Amino acid sequence: MSGIVIIGAGECGTRAAFALREAGYSGSVVLVGAEPHLPYERPPLSKPASDAVRMKLICAKDGLADAGIDYLKGVSASKLDADAGTVTLSDGRVLAYQKLLLATGARPRRLACPGAERALDFRTHGDAEAIFSRAGVARSTAVIGGGLIGMELASVLRGEGIAVSVIEAAPKTLGRAVPARFAEKLHARHIEEGVDFHLGRGVAAITDDGVILTDGSMVQAQLVISAIGVMPEITLAQDAGLATGNGILTDTHLRTSAANIFAAGDCAAVSQTDGGHIRFESWRNARAQAETAARTMIGSLEPFTAIPWFWSDQYDLSLQVVGLPQPAHQSVVRPLGDGELEFYLDAGRLVAAAGLGIGNAVAKDIKLAEMLIAAGVRPDTAALANANLNLKALLKSARAA
Ligand SMILES: Cc1cc2nc3c(=O)[nH]c(=O)nc-3n(C[C@H](O)[C@H](O)[C@H](O)COP(=O)(O)OP(=O)(O)OC[C@H]3O[C@@H](n4cnc5c(N)ncnc54)[C@H](O)[C@@H]3O)c2cc1C
Repeated sequence: MSGIVIIGAGECGTRAAFALREAGYSGSVVLVGAEPHLPYERPPLSKPASDAVRMKLICAKDGLADAGIDYLKGVSASKLDADAGTVTLSDGRVLAYQKLLLATGARPRRLACPGAERALDFRTHGDAEAIFSRAGVARSTAVIGGGLIGMELASVLRGEGIAVSVIEAAPKTLGRAVPARFAEKLHARHIEEGVDFHLGRGVAAITDDGVILTDGSMVQAQLVISAIGVMPEITLAQDAGLATGNGILTDTHLRTSAANIFAAGDCAAVSQTDGGHIRFESWRNARAQAETAARTMIGSLEPFTAIPWFWSDQYDLSLQVVGLPQPAHQSVVRPLGDGELEFYLDAGRLVAAAGLGIGNAVAKDIKLAEMLIAAGVRPDTAALANANLNLKALLKSARAA
């Protein structure tokens, strides 16, 4: 019996399967996942609590079967025929679908230099096991890429007393997603912790001794990890003739260019009301889009409107960012006991906020900031900067107004 087929059993695909059941869908749900495990969360891979790599499952062991979700583990979808409404799997099976969700996520961007094969990727549980088991015996490591994943990895390795060099082609680390104020603070903390940075230089080659940089200098390392970002996994969609760009293109309801095919999570580039498509790579985005896609597949027509949010843990610091801060926004800084918040206003309207603090110090305020953004407030900037002004009170008065 054909029903809903979901390709990709990561955060997005798995959440979508459960969301279908929660929304009352009683037809068949088949979840196809290339990895050989039960679905697991990726964020804990770069935040191991002890020296063992944690596999945090997305659902209990019997959760999928109990919900009537047919999970095909360790099998990948190799061909999509959008006209026939079928997907061919790597084991030769052909699945017919009424609705198909592509939740194929992203794969690591590859280095193109001589010796690139010596660098380990960091995306899957298998990658994490390979890195941490080898890091334990290596005296020195080089992390190529000073983005969020590379910097989280550096903090974990330093926590274990392992020497870490971070190589970043840009002049600064964390430049892509993190507001400058907090990128600088995190960078300074890494220096305090003893991370050795090589900025503004590319990688010319990787050898048995380490990494040769484009200026000819050598970074000695027994273990090299590549964390230079990811590419959306769009091969299946592209080969089937679906519209793609920096992701599988969807409208605001997560419908792709082909009838009955939807896309969500790291692989999806979603149409924005003000033009263009945006693709997010974050845990909560994957879950939120999964829920919208599930409801859309069974007939609701709500657009995807969630405010972007992500977090990153490095040492004892936690960063949270809600909305999309831009350098052109007006910034208002608010001190906190164990951290700091920064609000971003566009023509007087609160559009984003970020916070960095010890442990959970900023979590409550970022949640309130998210509600303030959703309420469309135009706050008094002096009041916003005043740590004595309660954000809850501001929200209450905004809602009352
Ligand atoms: C180490 C690490 C740490 C992270 N930390 C954070 C964090 O702190 N905060 C945060 O917000 N986000 C974090 N993220 C990002 C977050 O985990 C991702 O945004 C999220 O996992 C995306 O979910 P997804 O289901 O869209 O994609 P994925 O998790 O990539 O899952 C896609 C799945 O589809 C499978 N697949 C692909 N093609 C096929 C096919 N043809 N057939 C069958 N299966 C297929 C893949 O094998 C994969 O299992 C982190 C990511 C990593 C790697």
